[in-house]
Amino acid sequence: MKRVVIIGGGIAGLAAAYSLREHSGASFEIRIIERKDRLGGNIRTEREGGFLIEGGPDCFLSEKPWAMELCKRVGLGDELLPTNEQNKKTFVLSRGKLHVLPEGVILMVPTKILPLATSSLISIPGKIRMALELFVPKRTAKGDESLGDFVRRRLGREALEKIAEPLVAGVHAGDPETMSVRASFPKFVQLEEDYGSLIKGMIKRMELLKSTHKSAVPAGPPKKKITMFITLKNGLGTLIDTLEEKVSASKETSITTGVNVSGVERKGDGYEVVLEGGEKIHADAVVIAAPAYAAASLVKGFDSALSENLLTIPYVSTATVSIAFRKKDIKHPLNGFGFVVPKVEKRKIMAATWTSVKFSYRAPDDSVLIRCFVGGSKDTSLLGANDEEMVKTVRQELKDIMGIDAEPVLSRVFRWMNSMPQYTIGHEDRIAWIDERVAGYPGFYLVGSAYHGIGISDSIRYGEIVAKKVLHHIGASKPQ
Ligand SMILES: Cc1cc2nc3c(=O)[nH]c(=O)nc-3n(C[C@H](O)[C@H](O)[C@H](O)COP(=O)(O)OP(=O)(O)OC[C@H]3O[C@@H](n4cnc5c(N)ncnc54)[C@H](O)[C@@H]3O)c2cc1C
Repeated sequence: MKRVVIIGGGIAGLAAAYSLREHSGASFEIRIIERKDRLGGNIRTEREGGFLIEGGPDCFLSEKPWAMELCKRVGLGDELLPTNEQNKKTFVLSRGKLHVLPEGVILMVPTKILPLATSSLISIPGKIRMALELFVPKRTAKGDESLGDFVRRRLGREALEKIAEPLVAGVHAGDPETMSVRASFPKFVQLEEDYGSLIKGMIKRMELLKSTHKSAVPAGPPKKKITMFITLKNGLGTLIDTLEEKVSASKETSITTGVNVSGVERKGDGYEVVLEGGEKIHADAVVIAAPAYAAASLVKGFDSALSENLLTIPYVSTATVSIAFRKKDIKHPLNGFGFVVPKVEKRKIMAATWTSVKFSYRAPDDSVLIRCFVGGSKDTSLLGANDEEMVKTVRQELKDIMGIDAEPVLSRVFRWMNSMPQYTIGHEDRIAWIDERVAGYPGFYLVGSAYHGIGISDSIRYGEIVAKKVLHHIGASKPQ
């Protein structure tokens, strides 16, 4: 019987495994080997004292449908949970105070005049500069550009410092001066190319969406509300548990956790996957769903150039610190989803999510749950601190920024060392080279957030794309 080995049991590896079973038309074996003693990779949900704590990701973007679609296919459709829209403001720290991110600003592009005009976040010259984006000529130079240069060029320095940079740090833990705008925000590059202006393009796109939505509204009961961010009622870990259950329901699938893969070798038409300890598993197809630097060490033996190129994809480390308080001890109104912190503010946290406001079912009614991000490309010094010191620092930050001086009822620290790949300038060219090189090895695939999309939804999407390629390679595709 043919055998597929998947290295890495994060969401990309599990989505690939599920898709292999979903679309196969013949029997074959799947072995998933995961280094840690649990599946899920960055996705980790814990429950404690009535709180639901997401250690890593806490939601996915609905605009990228692959995560939602997978949830529905595995029977978690009823668990999909939108954000609480009555309080959906985001705040930005500026000169020590929290200011509302003007309504209608989509990532960094303003689409509504009034909220921007009346915003206390941006100075009058900064607002005028943002509005002048409408008249900034298109870039003529070809090739990649940093996100920092792109935003400065189109919207001005203040839009970069007070909006784009902190939002990007909060999501990607990245540095706009080294991030590739083409790889990280291809839509914005496209808007500039198509409409000559981000503001004009964004408004046109929104009008188009509204009109297609109106004409496409089907008759019947109203559908479940879809917000920009979606999660699962019982946490993202539910998706991992469900995938594990579904995938391992087949007796031809085995999942091994707590075992490190130390290398992959080519053997005849197939491969040998070498486990730490020396066991070798023959595979007709191998999917490496581990971070790029881990893939680099696995392929070193058979392609050192591929290994070197994989090592050029940098990663940064972050930590999330979740802290809960009694509601009665907090004076702050918590009237939003949380805040982001521009680098120029020189603080120790990058962002904070007011988790129990953003999503229901995260904290008991009499409590609030706040999650802070530390580290990223800005400052990793705090990551070396022990949990107690990290919580102490985060509490001081919340005191300074939100006036919270209460004793927490719970605190949890999750460290994510080298867990966030960075799409730096030239990323698309690097990935094109890697893709071409990998295509030269039939039955060998790389997947995960390092390559074609940074979030959960893209990791699922490419896991599924790779599964189809694997089925074709081993001759197990469903007959058409
Ligand atoms: C703090 C944080 C917050 C995030 N927030 C969000 C969010 O809100 N929304 C969103 O969409 N995305 C978010 N992301 C990104 C998201 O986590 C990733 O897109 C996604 O989880 C990547 O999945 P993956 O399977 O590619 O990689 P991983 O989750 O890294 O899984 C790879 C797996 O491979 C295993 N492995 C590595 N080496 C080996 C080896 N030699 N042998 C065997 N196994 C190995 C690892 O142990 C790991 O389990 C966040 C990331 C972090 C760190």
